[in-house]
Amino acid sequence: MKKIDGRLVADHLQEELKTKVEALQAVGKNPTLAVVLVGEDPASKVYVGGKERTAKKLGMGSLRYDLPATSTQEEILEMVEKLNQDPEVHGILVQLPLPKGLDEKEVLEAIDKEKDVDCFHPYNLGKLFQGDESGFLPCTPHGVIKLLEYYDIEIEGKDVVIVGRSNIVGKPMFSLMLNRSATVTVVHSRTKDLAEKTKKADILVAAVGIAGFITKDMVKPGAVIVDVGINSIDGKLYGDVDKEVEEVASYMTPVPGGVGPMTITMLMDNTIKACK
Ligand code: NAP
Repeated sequence: MKKIDGRLVADHLQEELKTKVEALQAVGKNPTLAVVLVGEDPASKVYVGGKERTAKKLGMGSLRYDLPATSTQEEILEMVEKLNQDPEVHGILVQLPLPKGLDEKEVLEAIDKEKDVDCFHPYNLGKLFQGDESGFLPCTPHGVIKLLEYYDIEIEGKDVVIVGRSNIVGKPMFSLMLNRSATVTVVHSRTKDLAEKTKKADILVAAVGIAGFITKDMVKPGAVIVDVGINSIDGKLYGDVDKEVEEVASYMTPVPGGVGPMTITMLMDNTIKACK
């Protein structure tokens, strides 16, 4: 089994991004990401910190707005509008989940589609669904595509099975794979005979949120395994794919160090695109 090293690929892509940032700065533009964090969720704070650090590492502008958990819907919408109007801000990310009682959909749809670097706006998702990838692409599934490309893993004509149908991973992953002419099956919690379907996959993408969900008997020998899952148990991170799958896979992403580093990298890529 060959490891798909997300850290290595992310570092490589980030070097290219740094050059793009320098080129923009040379013509007086500074790609800037604004992150809005509402409340005190510890996991969200960690994610936001990672995004800030990567933006700074690439020499980009990074702004952070911490709003109290008691913020009203109107206050958050006002903040988004202020950032929409700010010509120095190129990308806006509102960290999810928002505290209970707030309408996430309304907030995400309020973000200017030209600054929607996290790609949650129906306009950008709609374009992707129509096979037009000229807009922003959702960071995690786009990162998966970049990993496969880096390792010269062909997608066209392959049987791809995606486990999970969330708006953030499963559904856009489906579109990206279909746009590359894979034959795509999406399975979820109501799927009958799930293992029968995963066993047919040349490329299996797991985005379930259950540690070790995909076991060896659910995988075709020689399959490429992409593990999107991040599950924290007693302070340690586990993917959705059991370690024993390494015995049968041809390629596999580790957790951590697989898809995770790519997600942040693609967010920076979108912000640079927005600035351009
Ligand atoms: P989600 O919104 O909770 O979706 C999980 C999906 O898995 C749902 O479609 C659900 O089916 C399906 N599922 C749950 N239990 C199942 C079961 N027993 N059998 C079959 N399908 C089942 O999760 P998500 O946001 O897509 O995230 C998935 C995982 O990826 C999480 O571990 C998350 O932390 C991780 N993640 C990682 C990154 C990264 O950067 N690496 C980014 C995003 C997410 P139903 O729709 O039928 O309920």
